[in-house]
Amino acid sequence: MFESKNPQRTPISSLGEFGLIDHLTANAKVKLANTALGIGDDAALIDMGDHYQAVSTDLLVEGVHFDLSYMPLKHLGYKSVVVNLSDIYAMNGVAEHITVGIAVSNRFPVEALEEIYAGIHLACEKYNVDLVGGDTTSSRSGLMISITAIGRVEKTKAAKRSGAGDNDLIVVSGDLGGAYMGLQVLEREKQVYLENPDMQPELHGHEYILERQLKPEARKDIVELLAALEVVPTSMIDISDGLSSELMHLANNSNVQVNVYENKIPIDPSIYTLCEEFNLSTTTVAMNGGEDYELLFTIPIGDHDKIKANPNLTVIGYVKEGSGANLITRDEKVIELKAQGFNHME
Ligand code: ADP
Ligand code: MG
Repeated sequence: MFESKNPQRTPISSLGEFGLIDHLTANAKVKLANTALGIGDDAALIDMGDHYQAVSTDLLVEGVHFDLSYMPLKHLGYKSVVVNLSDIYAMNGVAEHITVGIAVSNRFPVEALEEIYAGIHLACEKYNVDLVGGDTTSSRSGLMISITAIGRVEKTKAAKRSGAGDNDLIVVSGDLGGAYMGLQVLEREKQVYLENPDMQPELHGHEYILERQLKPEARKDIVELLAALEVVPTSMIDISDGLSSELMHLANNSNVQVNVYENKIPIDPSIYTLCEEFNLSTTTVAMNGGEDYELLFTIPIGDHDKIKANPNLTVIGYVKEGSGANLITRDEKVIELKAQGFNHME
C-alpha cells in the first residue's frame, strides 16, 4: 500500500488545474542544454541544431472529456489526434509524428477499438502525420486516450506564449463558441432521450456546431497561410480552454496587457438564436466555451496589411505595456478578465 510521507490531505480543487500543474512542476529544473523551452507552453521545444522539435501530450478521459453516449468512437479517435496536433501548430510548427496510449476496459469489443483507430488513421492521413508507437493497457473505469504529438519548428519562426510586445495586434482564426454550443445541444438531446428513449434527437440544423464539438479540425492551414503571407507571429496559443483563459496566458507569459473588443470577436451567425434559446450570452460562450481549437496570436502592427483581407483571420484587439487581459464591451466599458475557462479539476 502506498503511504504518503506527508500526512496532509490537500484537496486538488483548492489549487485548480493550472495551480496544480504549477505546484507539481515548480521544482522541475532544466538540466540539458538542448531543452530550449520546457513546461508552460503549448509544446516543449527541443533544440535539434538546425531546427526545434516540438513535443506535446494530451490525455482524454471518458466522462470528463468525452461522453460515449453521443461521441461516435471514430470521431473520438479523430478528435484525440487533432487536439494534440493543435498544440504543435500553436508553436507555428508542422506536426510529424504521434504516439497513442490507450487504456480500455473489457466492456469494449475489438470492433470498438477498430473504430477509434479508424478515426486516428483518418486524422493521420489528413494532417500528414505518422503514428509511430504507443501503449495499450486495461482500465477498470472507462476509456482513456493519451496522445503525444511531435513536430518540427523553424527556429526563427517559433511562436511561444511569451513573445507578445507593445502595440502588437491580437488576431484569432476562424470563429469561437461553436464547440461549446454543440455540446449544449448534445447534452440537451441526451437528457430528452434519457427521459423518453422513444424520442429521436433533434440535431437537424445544428450541423456546424456539432461538427465543431464532435469532429474539430486543427488549424494547420493557418500555419501554412502565415508562412505564405510571410507573417511570423510574435506569440501564439491554441484555444482549448476558451479565449478568456488563453488571453490571460498570453498576457502573463509575455508580461504585457492584452485588450480585446467584444464587437470584434468572430462568432458564427448560427450561434445567436441558439444562445437565446439556451439563455446564454454569445460573448460569454465565445470567451469561456473552449474546445474551439482555433489559433490566437499576436503580430507586429506593421504586418496588418498582410492579413487584413483574409476571411480566416480577425483582428480582435491590441497589446500594450502593463498586465492583465481586458474585454472592451460594446458600450466601451473595460472588464478585466478573471481566471476561469473549463476547469476539469473542479
Ligand atoms: P494545453 O492546454 O496547451 O494542453 P496545459 O494547460 O495542459 O496545456 O499544460 C500547460 C503546461 O503544463 C504544458 O507545458 C504542459 O506540458 C505542462 N503539464 C501539464 N501537466 C503536466 C504534468 N502532469 N507534468 C508536467 N508537466 C505538465
Ligand atoms: Mg494548447
